[in-house]
Formats: sequence, C-alpha cells, structure tokens
Amino acid sequence: MTTTTINHFINGQISQGSSGLSQNVFNPATGNVTGNVVLASAHDVDSAVQAAKAAFPTWADTPPIRRARVMFKFLELLNTHKDALAEAITKEHGKVFTDAQGEVARGIDIVEFACGIPQLLKGDYTEQVSTGIDNWTMRQPLGVVAGITPFNFPVMVPMWMFPIAIATGNTFILKPSPLDPSASLMIADLLKQAGLPDGVFNVVQGDKDSVEALIDHPDVKALSFVGSTPIANLIYERGAKHGKRVQALGGAKNHMVVMPDANLDKAVDALIGAAYGSAGERCMAISVAVLVGDVADGVVAQLAERAKALKVKDGMQLDAEMGPIVTRQAHERITGYINKGVEEGAHLVVDGREFDAAQTGDGCAEGFWMGGTLFDHVTPEMTIYKEEIFGPVLACIRVPDIATAIQLINDHEFGNGVSCFTESGSVAREFGRRIQVGMVGINVPIPVPMAWHGFGGWKRSLFGDTHAYGEEGVRFYTKQKSIMQRWSDSIDSGAEFVMPTAK
Ligand code: NAD
Repeated sequence: MTTTTINHFINGQISQGSSGLSQNVFNPATGNVTGNVVLASAHDVDSAVQAAKAAFPTWADTPPIRRARVMFKFLELLNTHKDALAEAITKEHGKVFTDAQGEVARGIDIVEFACGIPQLLKGDYTEQVSTGIDNWTMRQPLGVVAGITPFNFPVMVPMWMFPIAIATGNTFILKPSPLDPSASLMIADLLKQAGLPDGVFNVVQGDKDSVEALIDHPDVKALSFVGSTPIANLIYERGAKHGKRVQALGGAKNHMVVMPDANLDKAVDALIGAAYGSAGERCMAISVAVLVGDVADGVVAQLAERAKALKVKDGMQLDAEMGPIVTRQAHERITGYINKGVEEGAHLVVDGREFDAAQTGDGCAEGFWMGGTLFDHVTPEMTIYKEEIFGPVLACIRVPDIATAIQLINDHEFGNGVSCFTESGSVAREFGRRIQVGMVGINVPIPVPMAWHGFGGWKRSLFGDTHAYGEEGVRFYTKQKSIMQRWSDSIDSGAEFVMPTAK
C-alpha cells in the first residue's frame, strides 16, 4: 500500500520541518494507513511565524479591494476543486461523500462573505463632533494570527477562520488536526494559485506541542481554536495569560425537544439525520432527544426502526447514510460510553456495538465501524447524558412539559446548539427567549448560522467574547482605532486644562 507524506506549508513552500517526528493517517473505512503526517517542533512553528511576520506589513498595507480580488480568485478555484476536497475529507475522516460536499459548500459560504471585505471594513465617520472637529473609527489587522482546528470539519472549520483573518489584512498559521490533514495542503495550494503572497497563509502540522508553541509565541497575536472543551479552556486561559486575543470554541451536548403538537414524522426524520449523520461527530449533532408528554413511546418506536435500518457504509458509496468512526481510539471511547449507559441503567433500545462490518463494502472489514445506538429512559445524572460522547449515540429523556425541558437544557454545562419541534408559535417564541444556548433551531435540527450571522455557543461551549465568522469574526481579527481631527483655523489659542467637551 502506498502512503503519502503530508508536510507543512511555510512561506509558500512545502516543508518537511526539522522535528523528524510524524504519525500515521488512516482511512477509517478500511483501517489502512494512507499517509504519514509530519509533526512540527517549536522550531518549525517559529519558522512559520517568522514567515507570517515578514509577510504582514505588505499584506496589511494592500488595499482591501485587492485582498478581496485574491479571495474571489480563490473562490473560483474552490468551486472547481470542491469535489476533490470532499473526497479528501471522506478518505481521512470517513463521513459520507455527499456530507463532505455539504461541508465544503458551507466553507465556501464564508469565502463569499470574505469577498465583501471592503464593505465590512468601512469605518464610521461623524462630521463636526465639535466645531471644526471630525471623528472616525477604522479597524486594523492584528498581525500574525493562528487557527487550531478539530478533525471533524477539516475544510469548513479552517474556513470559519482564515478567509476573514486574511481578508482583514492579517497573516495566518493553520494548525489542522493530524487525523485528517491532507485538505489543509490542498487549500494552501489553491490560495497560492489565487495569487496570495507567500507567507500570508501557512500550515503547520502537529498536535499538542505545536499548539503550545503557537500559544506561547510572542509574535502570535490571536488564536482561534475549535475542539473539545478541556483543551479550549486550557488554550483560552494560557493565551489570555500571554495577553493574546483568544476565541476558543468547545464541545457540546445538543438537545432536541419534541413537543406533543410537533409533526412527529418530520421530528423523527430530523432526529435520525442530526444524531447519526457524520456518525454523530459534529459539534451541532443532536445527542439528546427530549420527548415531552405522551409522544415518547411513539417517537422511540419509530427511532428504533430507523436506527436499525441506517445504511452504514464506506462514505464513497453514494447511498451511504453514515460512515465509520474516525479512529480506533474514538471507537473504543464511544463503546465505553455505551457500556457505561447500560451499567448506569439506561434502556438500550438499539445497540450499535453489534453492527456487522461485513455489510459496509469491499475491503472494509478492518475499518472502525459501528451502527447507530439508541438509549431510552436516560436521566440527567447518567454519564451518557452529562458528557459529550461525539459518536452515533442518541439518548432519549422523557419530560412532562416544556418548562421541565427548558430547565433541563439550561442546567447542562454545554450550550452550543438546541432545537425545538413544535407547531405552536408561542411555544417557539418562549423557547427561543428562555433557552440558555447560543444557536437555536425551531423545527431546524442543526441550526448552524449562515456565513454572515456568526457561529458560537454559550456556557462551556465557547471561551472568549466573540463568535466565529460573520461580523463578529471581522471584529475578532481587527482592532478598532478612533481618530479625531481638526485643523489650525478651528483651534483656539491658549492651553485648555479642562476635559474637552463639544463646543
Ligand atoms: P480535540 O480537542 O482533540 O483537538 C482539537 C485540536 O487541538 C486539534 O488540532 C488537536 O491537534 C489539538 N490538540 C489536541 N490535544 C491537544 C492538547 N493537549 N493541547 C493542545 N492542543 C491539542 O478535538 P477533536 O477530537 O479534533 O474534535 C472534536 C471536538 O471538537 C468535540 O469536542 C467537538 O464538540 C468539538 N468541536 C466544536 C465545535 C464548535 O464550534 N464548538 C466545532 C467542531 C468541533
């Protein structure tokens, strides 16, 4: 079996780095090693930072309309190569190809948003704040900024960050997940073809050590992180201690409430897609169904039938609904949670551990396979309710009314996404207002906001003040400057010792 080496991309060139360290990359569908990704040392990280630092002054000085033209060219190239990117995602992550195409499309949305950067960077101007004095604000880039991304969206999540960071005039270092790193180099190549100057976008491959080198590097001004909550928390605290701007998006436990007045067939469709799509490895996956009143028996029965019938196959097969789990370790972790759910007394309705890998496709017997799992009668004290499992496991909780449902959700430590299925406008309105969660769907199971609205959870799902992308993203990657100006014919003679006020 041939394997490829996945290197760094520093100052417009592929670089092997100097650490001598690397790790295997797998195709989770077959369990085969398909590549070997190099792992950066602090020295390699420093090379990338120096390249980005050197490129910054010229890029920051480039008029926004010219930066936007590079983004337009990049957009064109992305549209040409989007299926190649989707295929790279499926082969290293495992998600089904059509889902990977959706991921790329949602990333492209952000590039389209970044193409409008001249408009987004327009400041505010007030003429005559005092006699003969005008005041305006502008937003300027920060310098070298870094993005650290998770395995589950190797194209979309980097694109939450770098299109806006670069369009606003920063230079960028991407540290992707070592589990599915190939897409990062494809992106780097397309940016280079689009005419982006060397050093503006760099990729360092690696894991913990390279992340720590980025956090501690004095020339890295801001960090965007997306990943699990313990690491998000750590990065936020360590980065903030160094005086950096940090946006750290963490884990989730997303609930979907099904009200008795909901269209139950559509609610079941939504639950099946949102719980088992991408094998539950989405930060906006629904992992808890909150069944209100007497809908529970009927919904659980339908879910059970559908979970057993899921088409779990190699993601490159076009009828596949769910692919494999990303790694053997993740498979073991998810299996451990299922065991724990049984031990703690949850009712196991469908057991994904029993899945037969033989039905997945030729050559897939050694892949990291499991079926969809469904638990009923889960309670808030159980580990499978409290912790993020990040796999194809749906827990059903039964509650008597909407008030109990809202309280349950508000008491959870995470607050990323939530959904409520109802036909009642007043329930929907109250739910939207009272729920302590950053992204809310009404009859929408996965309410990932569009490119111009910004993405972010509440509570322990996000550390930092601004959400990712959208106008919040523009604010994160820029700092505001206010300029007040007057000319000598409107300046009175003599020193003023009092606080200046409008005259
Ligand atoms: P992860 O936290 O293991 O890894 C995320 C990144 O941190 C990777 O680049 C990884 O190399 C790096 N990293 C790993 N260990 C580290 C350490 N000890 N110190 C510093 N850096 C380290 O997450 P993952 O398994 O790749 O992704 C899944 C997690 O990401 C889930 O918790 C999911 O909810 C979360 N996620 C959140 C969002 C969101 O928007 N809130 C989006 C996608 C994924």
